Amino acid sequence: MSDTPSKPFRTPWPGSVSRPVVNPLQPSVVYASDDPDALDAQYEGGAKGFTYAREGHPNAEVLGQMVDAMEGAKGGVVTGSGMGAVTVALLGTVRAGDHVLGADQLYGRSLRLMNEELPRLGIATSLADPTDVAAFEAAIRPETRLILIETVSNPTLRVADVDGIIAMALARGVLVAVDNTFPTPRGCQPLARGADIVIHSVTKLMAGHSDATLGYVAARDPDLAARFLTLAVSMGFTASPFDCWLAERGLYSFDLRYERCTATAARLGDALADMPGVERVLYPARSDHPDHNRSISLLGGEGGHMVSFEIAGGRAGANAFVRAAEGLNFAPTLGDIATTISHPATSSHRALTPEARAALGISEGFFRISVGCEPADALIATFDTAVRAACEV
Ligand SMILES: *Cc1c(COP(=O)(O)O)cnc(C)c1O
Repeated sequence: MSDTPSKPFRTPWPGSVSRPVVNPLQPSVVYASDDPDALDAQYEGGAKGFTYAREGHPNAEVLGQMVDAMEGAKGGVVTGSGMGAVTVALLGTVRAGDHVLGADQLYGRSLRLMNEELPRLGIATSLADPTDVAAFEAAIRPETRLILIETVSNPTLRVADVDGIIAMALARGVLVAVDNTFPTPRGCQPLARGADIVIHSVTKLMAGHSDATLGYVAARDPDLAARFLTLAVSMGFTASPFDCWLAERGLYSFDLRYERCTATAARLGDALADMPGVERVLYPARSDHPDHNRSISLLGGEGGHMVSFEIAGGRAGANAFVRAAEGLNFAPTLGDIATTISHPATSSHRALTPEARAALGISEGFFRISVGCEPADALIATFDTAVRAACEV
């Protein structure tokens, strides 16, 4: 067989005097230069250019700048997952012999990093209650280098004393990293409050459509920000162009989605509290939430898009509830455009003993809702039907 003679091996991109209004997806792994001088200038920083996708590409740069603007950050690093961002924050700040103090209700994988991976590297870790500054201060050791907290915890939606912990850490010379995934930058901007590092799972409400797995980590100190980028590139934590491109698109509707799902979540929380069979509702903006006052000072009184609640009836009631919640996905994630329901006892918190779950207030009847952008009335009616079905078992 002979080659097709008229076909160029790589067909050039067509020229156009008009510009696309949408930023293109650029999947190229590698970038060609004019000559060694040009490449040299690029590496030396004298000329702007991309070289290799793991080191940086236009889609990550666009997305990073968008999230930087939302968080009031500079030079934030986009990573291939939220866990990539958590790992960069940890490994970029600590070394063997250091101690990391974490919140006791961190995201499950972050807890595993703290409890299993860091100790293996010679980094000591311990956990404390982030709603209690005194408990955090008491857990500080001479070798504590970093504090890792989440603004709002999963799944009980406790609001950390972010301001108190930052003030205490500043006095002790300890860095503070805040995973701000649940409130998003619309609810809270940790860097503006004095945190050293902010982390996001962009996978969640930021990208917002359950089709991109991404993270973001930014540091206030430019040297630390530069170290994060080097670490992410060297350890291979950087993100794929396609995911960044999807997330960029998702972010254009972020404010609309945020306002819609937050307003619906507030209504759903109140509606659930009135339903017979619902034993308790956890929503930071409600006056019966244990951290209600802090939600006003830290989150501006916004409750966010997550609502947790508990029904009676044990596992049988939980099964009946999910089966009757027609049209809603029962799935262990959050931040989708549509509402999702998760059941921590069988998913995120299944590794805990029933006693440990009970201590956190997570029973078989405990559900966490990520409220989406559906019409609110229909959504509340679906919950009403599902709670009634749970009550009938
Ligand atoms: C989901 C999540 C993560 C991990 O993000 P991935 O994108 O799934 O890796 C970290 N922290 C919080 C609070 C999360 O919700």
